[in-house]
Amino acid sequence: KVRVRFAPSPTGPLHIGGVRTALYNYLFARQHGGELVFRIEDTDSHRFVPGAEEYILKAFRWLGIKFDEGVSFGGSHGPYRQSERRDIYKKYVDQLLEAGKAYYAFDTPEELEAKRAEVKNFQYDATTRMQMRNSLTLPEEQWRKLIDDGVQYTVRFKVEPGQEIHVNDMIRGDVCVKSDILDDKVLYKSADELPTYHLANIVDDHLMEITHVIRGEEWLPSAPLHVLLYKAFGWEDTMPRFAHLPLLLKPEGKGKLSKRDGDRLGFPVFPLEWHDPKTGEVSSGYRESGYFPEAVVNFLALLGWNPGTDQEIFSLDELVKAFDITKCSKSGAKFDYQKGIWFNHEYILRKSDDEIARLFAPIVANNGVDESFERIRLVVHMMKDRVSFVKELWPLCSFFFIAPTEYDEKTVRKRWKEFSAQQMSELIDVLEGIDDFSVEGQEPVVEKWIADKGYKMGDVMNAFRLALVGIGKGPGMFDISAFLGKEETIKRLRKAIA
Ligand code: GLU
Repeated sequence: KVRVRFAPSPTGPLHIGGVRTALYNYLFARQHGGELVFRIEDTDSHRFVPGAEEYILKAFRWLGIKFDEGVSFGGSHGPYRQSERRDIYKKYVDQLLEAGKAYYAFDTPEELEAKRAEVKNFQYDATTRMQMRNSLTLPEEQWRKLIDDGVQYTVRFKVEPGQEIHVNDMIRGDVCVKSDILDDKVLYKSADELPTYHLANIVDDHLMEITHVIRGEEWLPSAPLHVLLYKAFGWEDTMPRFAHLPLLLKPEGKGKLSKRDGDRLGFPVFPLEWHDPKTGEVSSGYRESGYFPEAVVNFLALLGWNPGTDQEIFSLDELVKAFDITKCSKSGAKFDYQKGIWFNHEYILRKSDDEIARLFAPIVANNGVDESFERIRLVVHMMKDRVSFVKELWPLCSFFFIAPTEYDEKTVRKRWKEFSAQQMSELIDVLEGIDDFSVEGQEPVVEKWIADKGYKMGDVMNAFRLALVGIGKGPGMFDISAFLGKEETIKRLRKAIA
């Protein structure tokens, strides 16, 4: 049975790249009838940020990405918070120590610092470990005494040189690395009685019966070490398959996408607004910026994967069917945030007028306008194809609800001619005589009057628009006058020529 996991560290808000990683895990799990586990990797207590875990959970609820198991979801492989699994890890660290696959190291931070200053590009490994203070170089009574005396130590993984390590990656194929380039990574620190990421991650993936590890490219360099750890534990047979997803790149295409890019270009890099508990800084979120969760999911799904067809609009269910992890690209995906805006626009078009009107109605009310839902829905119907966000509707549509108090100067100069007032006052008479004030009722009568008088259609309509809207843009003129009704239309015309 396919089992995948999303395993964030609660060090801050979930980055949009993390959302994509979780989404791909979700799609992979669903399409294989598998399970998705939510694990919190909080063994680095110094980087813990309060509120981050709740934030991450809230973000996924908003996005509609559901987990089957894990922190806050329960399940039979718990606990799912690594800080609650100390005893479990200790046992496995001891197992590696006993097998001679790991060793105690007593080098103090100062000693390591001095060594780094002395040896350029120092790496703690097979060629240097014998110069250091550890259980491989000290006599046994001596290092045992150090431990008994409570001296702080770390446990390091003993990487044997001269091996070829193969990482079988679903996206990148066989990635081969020589063990000589790896260092003896710290697996455990006595100071906080906790394992490091590498050990906890492997032990948990094993115990939680994870079959596929789908994560960001930044973890590819760690994968050979992880393969060695599986071997050291004798878990090769159940070792998960890997998929390292392409990085999200800056919109310009070079370098990793960062929060600063969002600040610089004005787009969010977090799913929800984030209030930093330490600095008080507020970072914008997709939700608060007016994106639909479906649009965000659709947009992210296509960053690093494409269906090989022209189809761009996918529901979550359609993505589950179409997604293919092996077709993900190896190279980074440019974060084209404009495309994200385009997706939101496409979702506005696809949503019913009713749904958009329900979101727009409170904005109308907040602007002090008391309108019926039905009339708000009518405006939405006329105008939604012009916006990418619901919040963009008000500035475009306020004239439907509130008569213009001023007229755009430039438009007046260009479109309000010497004869406009005269034409508008005649138009008032024409409109007065119309009983059926619908578009179909007005249009032929007004057009006939224009023709009879030999006026220019453009002159009349431009002035009519300016009088009703205040600017030179908007939907069809008779749509506007029909919506406003005879009384309000004539009132606005009178005011314009006064
Ligand atoms: N805790 C790691 C992170 O924050 C998880 C890496 C992995 O999936 O192995 O990205």
